[in-house]
Formats: sequence, C-alpha cells, structure tokens
Amino acid sequence: MIPREFDYHAPKSIPDALGLLAQFGDEAKLLAGGHSLLPMMKMRFAQPGHLIDLGKIPELKGIREERGTICIGAMTTENELIWSKLLQDKCPLLVEGARLISDPQVRYKGTIGGDISHGDPGNDHPAMMLALSASFVLRSAAGERVVPADGFFVGTYDTLMKPDEIMTEVRIPVPAPGTGYCYAKLKRKVGDYAAAAAAVTLRMNGETVQEVAIALTNVGPTPLKARAAEDALRGKALTDASMAAAAELAMSICDPAADQRGDAEYKTAMAGEMTQRALRLARSRAGN
Ligand SMILES: Cc1cc2nc3c(=O)[nH]c(=O)nc-3n(C[C@H](O)[C@H](O)[C@H](O)COP(=O)(O)OP(=O)(O)OC[C@H]3O[C@@H](n4cnc5c(N)ncnc54)[C@H](O)[C@@H]3O)c2cc1C
Repeated sequence: MIPREFDYHAPKSIPDALGLLAQFGDEAKLLAGGHSLLPMMKMRFAQPGHLIDLGKIPELKGIREERGTICIGAMTTENELIWSKLLQDKCPLLVEGARLISDPQVRYKGTIGGDISHGDPGNDHPAMMLALSASFVLRSAAGERVVPADGFFVGTYDTLMKPDEIMTEVRIPVPAPGTGYCYAKLKRKVGDYAAAAAAVTLRMNGETVQEVAIALTNVGPTPLKARAAEDALRGKALTDASMAAAAELAMSICDPAADQRGDAEYKTAMAGEMTQRALRLARSRAGN
C-alpha cells in the first residue's frame, strides 16, 4: 500500500525538532531509520501528516565514554554500534546483539533509539538494555528526564515516552572488567526477528555467581526481566542443574503470542533453551 500524504521536515537541532513536535502535536511522527515506521505507514497503521526527520541533527549521533558511563546518541545506527572500538572493548554484548539484527540494509539505517522507542517486543535492543541496566535520556520542551530501561516498556508498542518527547541518548554503566555476556537469539532464517532470545550479563567470583542479569526477547508483550531466575542463581555455584532451574523460572514468566515463528509452547521452550545457552557462553567469557 501507499502511505497517506505527509509533509517532511528536517530540523537541524533538538530544539527545532521539539518546536515542530509541539507545533504539529498528534499529527507528527519522528523519523529515525524508518525501518519500522515506514512499513507501518505503508500499511496505514500509522498515518502521520508530518514526518520530523531526526537524521540531520548531529548531537543525536555518536558513542563516547563519560565517567564510567557509555553514552550512545539515539540516532546511532546498528552498523555504527557494530564497528565501535569502544563497544567492542567495553560493551561487547551490544555488538553481538546488533550483529544479529536483520540484514545489512536494516543495520545501515536502523538506529538504537528507534529500535527502543518503537516498543516492539520483537526488537532486540530492549532486552539488552535490561541486561545492561541502561537508562534513556528523554527531552521535551519542558526539560530532560532520565528513565531506567527497567520499567520503560509498558506494553506492545507502548513505552513511558510521552508524545512530546525525543529520546536523545542511551546510557549504559560500563560493565565491570571480566563481565561475561551473551545475546543468544533463535531465528527461523537469517534476517528474521527472534522466535525467542535471551540477553545475559554475568559476574563470577570463583565458581560463585556474584551478579547476573537475564532478559528475554519476543516471549511476552514487552521484553521480560527474568528476576526469579536471576535470584535463584545469585550467590550460588553455576552448574548444569542451576542453569536448568533458572531456565525453568525464565520460562514461567513467558507469555508469547503464537505466529509463524511457532506456538506459545514452542517459543516458551526456546526461551528456556536460549537462557541456558546464554548463561553457558557468558560463563565461558567471564573472568573470575
Ligand atoms: C525486514 C526487517 C527485519 C527486522 N529485523 C529486526 C530484528 O531482527 N531485530 C530488531 O531489533 N529489529 C528488527 N527490525 C527493526 C529495525 O531494527 C528498525 O530499524 C527499528 O525497529 C526501528 O529503528 P529505526 O531507526 O528504523 O526507527 P523508525 O522506524 O524511524 O522509528 C520507529 C519508531 O520510533 C520512533 N522514534 C524513532 N527514533 C526516536 C527517538 N529518538 N525518540 C523518540 N521516538 C523515536 C518513531 O517515531 C517511530 O514511532 C527489522 C526491520 C525490518 C524492516
């Protein structure tokens, strides 16, 4: 299908973009890489009269480290994440996850801010954000607020972000040296969304789990933080039995929608499988 007619705006600064948002209100939509928004417009699920392209605003791009925090501009593309030396050295989970998103065409244009803002439980960044204890900087004409990823995703295509806000930056505390990590994603075919995926970060103290975070993709209306599974592992030895028990706890919070990727039972089982796979790989990558 063809989208309805719209006016295109290309502001050069965040205040100009916020001004346009305020001017056009509900009629406006922010455009980032367009890989989720444009398909929705073509199907007429979204029918904005005004598109505000964030692509000409330099402050929204780039990756830097500032006092123990990795700051990523919302308009940074998947490809830029993958090739970032800073992320490769200090936050390789994000590099691993970005490499598993779709295909090069999507990764060259799709942005981390768009992937998170869209609120699609099938998107990969939200679970990684939960596993990395990220937070998001949201700007409106009224000022700026910083919202933790944990609690940001409230429903399918629904987040805490207000219509007059722009996500400007993603902030991630630099993972401690020796943090193990893994994004385990099961796809039907190259380029597909996850049938189920698990993001894990893991700190070991000898054979004992010191800290662990587990988050799941596409097995509920939002990304899911597997808190009971984390609690069951923390302070204990990481064994085949403890990982299997954690996977059972992760599966117990899954509520996936059946689709062409499988029925609910299959996707739930695969969430458990991905959890165990991610824990094992994270263990092999963790320092003591
Ligand atoms: C074939 C295909 C396969 C895909 N597979 C995957 C996959 O496996 N994993 C995955 O994670 N994603 C996948 N995607 C989605 C892709 O990663 C999108 O790029 C992403 O969901 C949206 O990012 P975008 O920059 O394209 O945002 P857009 O499509 O431009 O915007 C998406 C939404 O977010 C809003 N928005 C964008 N930026 C901001 C901002 N800074 N502040 C506030 N609101 C904002 C827009 O208004 C819009 O509502 C796939 C897409 C396609 C077409």
